[in-house]
Amino acid sequence: MSAKTVREPARDIPVLAEPDVLVAGGGVAGIAAAAAAARAGAKVLLLERWGFLGGTVSAVTLGGFCGIWAVRPDELIPVVDGLFGQLVDRLRKRDAVTGPRRWSQAASLPYDPTSVRLVADEMMAAYGVEVLFHTWVADVAVEDGRVGTVYVENKGGRFAVRPRMVIDCTGDGDIAARAGAPFELGSGGITQFGSSMFRMAPVDVETFCKLSRDDVSARMGEIVAGGTPLPRTMVALYPNPIEGVVHLNATRVAREDGEPFDLTDPVQLSEAEREGRRQAYLYESVLREHMPGFSRARIVDIGAQIGIRETRLVKGDHVLTAEEVLGGAKPDDGIACNAWPVEVHAQGLKTVWKFLEPGEYCRIPYGCLTPLALRNVLVAGRCASSTHEAQASIRVSAPSMGMGEAAGIAAAMALEANCDSRAIQVGTLQEALRREGAILEPKG
Ligand SMILES: Cc1cc2nc3c(=O)[nH]c(=O)nc-3n(C[C@H](O)[C@H](O)[C@H](O)COP(=O)(O)OP(=O)(O)OC[C@H]3O[C@@H](n4cnc5c(N)ncnc54)[C@H](O)[C@@H]3O)c2cc1C
Repeated sequence: MSAKTVREPARDIPVLAEPDVLVAGGGVAGIAAAAAAARAGAKVLLLERWGFLGGTVSAVTLGGFCGIWAVRPDELIPVVDGLFGQLVDRLRKRDAVTGPRRWSQAASLPYDPTSVRLVADEMMAAYGVEVLFHTWVADVAVEDGRVGTVYVENKGGRFAVRPRMVIDCTGDGDIAARAGAPFELGSGGITQFGSSMFRMAPVDVETFCKLSRDDVSARMGEIVAGGTPLPRTMVALYPNPIEGVVHLNATRVAREDGEPFDLTDPVQLSEAEREGRRQAYLYESVLREHMPGFSRARIVDIGAQIGIRETRLVKGDHVLTAEEVLGGAKPDDGIACNAWPVEVHAQGLKTVWKFLEPGEYCRIPYGCLTPLALRNVLVAGRCASSTHEAQASIRVSAPSMGMGEAAGIAAAMALEANCDSRAIQVGTLQEALRREGAILEPKG
């Protein structure tokens, strides 16, 4: 990017809305935050840059929801429910989820990503959330530690939103970063790799399902040994609820020097999108030739954007660590549970997994949602306050939604009490979460 600058002239712009709570970003964290705040009585505006909700879950597309259960050899113990459970119930009514899929010491719930867009609309309507699509959160104005104005851009022009509380669910911490909250990009600038996700059909799922994850990995290893430069041998293939469709989490998008792209840099992001597509079609040809059940299959869709696992980790009053996750920490101010392993998509052909003890889970403390230096802002989802390794666990969809639900209720409580977001009574928040069906004490 050029070092040249120009001075943007000052101008008056229309005020678009003055909501009680502005939720920026309509991924799973944002859906839950908006629904929870509206349910608690706040007037909520949810802004999303795509034309649909779900974020990574529906724009990138995943094979399954992760982080729902603590896993024992003979039992799956639910650790996330509440609004996440409502989303799944709505999907189940549309035949858009299957049963749990287990492997190793983990389990996930395959779902149809396109149906998420519809049921998320239904949820927002049910809770009275106003949603504005195709709107980009561009900048903020901060007064005395409070975000007083959020500047947005869309096809209608540039507008101001004047919220009382803001919940940053952009995944990249766009609002918190613009407002001056401290953050770290991954670990010292090194993030997890992004991946372009894709689906193939028609796959003979019965034939393919006879292979274990280890079988798949061994086959991919042979292909790499035979000279095909696949970026990953540990690929995850999930049969979709739609017959004959398989979702593939297989690519690993790296710069030419082997390091991950900085996916907050638009030039690097553009290069990553191109590289992700190239890899997806490389896998298509390899799978058609070598993977049982795939000989007739073609790519039927690639996510609308590259999957971004990690960018800015906003620093909050508490920074969750991998030791806390893996040790099953249960702080008194826990507001959501998580049992997903630390899953690091790092250097090398394999993904690094560190599992919690069987049946174990951790609680995410409220302080992970309250960015330092800001008084009316909460963060939830993959940009919540955590270390690089801890984020590799709590970033998955179910705990992201759990954090969003807590943030939504907390924002409404702060409005009611006319206090800073970090000053609410966490005990009261926990009672509200339990009342609404969220899990803080899993029954195992
Ligand atoms: C490749 C990959 C594979 C994964 N696999 C799984 C899996 O199998 N299971 C699982 O449970 N999880 C998986 N995850 C993790 C998980 O999907 C995400 O971490 C989680 O969904 C994050 O949710 P979120 O709401 O915090 O953020 P996001 O999903 O990133 O949502 C952020 C939303 O904000 C919007 N937005 C961003 N910036 C702006 C802006 N400035 N203005 C307006 N809107 C904005 C985006 O469009 C998006 O809708 C995977 C992630 C990746 C990348």
